[in-house]
Amino acid sequence: MKSKKPRIAFIGMTSCKGCFFEFLLIGRKLVNLFENIEIRNFWLLKEFNDEKGEYDITFMDGAVSTEREAEELRDVRGRTKFLIAFGTCACWGGIPSIRNYSKDYRKIVYPKETKHPPKDSVDPIDKHVKVDYYMRGCPINEEEALEVIKDLLVGKKPREKDYSVCVECKKRGTRCLLKEGIICYGPVTYAGCNAPCPAVGTPCDGCRGPLPDGNLGAEVDMLKEKGITMEEIKSVFTRYAGSSEKFKEVKE
Ligand code: SF4
Ligand code: SF4
Repeated sequence: MKSKKPRIAFIGMTSCKGCFFEFLLIGRKLVNLFENIEIRNFWLLKEFNDEKGEYDITFMDGAVSTEREAEELRDVRGRTKFLIAFGTCACWGGIPSIRNYSKDYRKIVYPKETKHPPKDSVDPIDKHVKVDYYMRGCPINEEEALEVIKDLLVGKKPREKDYSVCVECKKRGTRCLLKEGIICYGPVTYAGCNAPCPAVGTPCDGCRGPLPDGNLGAEVDMLKEKGITMEEIKSVFTRYAGSSEKFKEVKE
């Protein structure tokens, strides 16, 4: 008899695979979850995978850095009902896309011809295919991952958090680092992580990417007033989400 459980795939492109490991660290709750889903493709867990099948949900990790990855992505999209951009690399290009800002990387990193040569740019996956849900974060947040899967299991479309990390600081009662003179990018960053960094005294450095209606201009003015140079500000912005159109609004 054919299984009625949702068929899930975890597929990786260019990334450090930290999001996959973060997912597996969910531990016990994950074991309960696995009773209700069918993992069809997850090379980190299984030796034999259904690499060409149809999937109900695909967690697509990583940025697109070669033509081969772009082709694979299009192929998977055609076989998937619901596609999740899994982690900041898939959502924004992430750390691998830093190479978009270096002219010499190709000479330095790939001095010889490679079998799958790098594309001219490293892209977020929505540059190539339609994305149904953006699970941001470097790495992803386990609570969000569980919530999204549970929603999908009961036929509900998961909702992205369209407010800033500051809201989550307020919710959990974290003292504001900015008020203490510490630079923090939380006011312009997508929530969904439950603000773990400020909670332990570490400023948010924007790993979930820029909020569409975040006041980037005001954040930049405030950072400049505190003596942060435009070069430093840009390097934080481009570390995770350099592909974002939002950053183009920033005036020098
Ligand atoms: S610590 Fe950072 S993220 Fe938290 S409220 Fe202050 S500015 Fe916002
Ligand atoms: S607080 Fe900021 S840096 Fe920390 S996990 Fe959340 S978005 Fe990322």
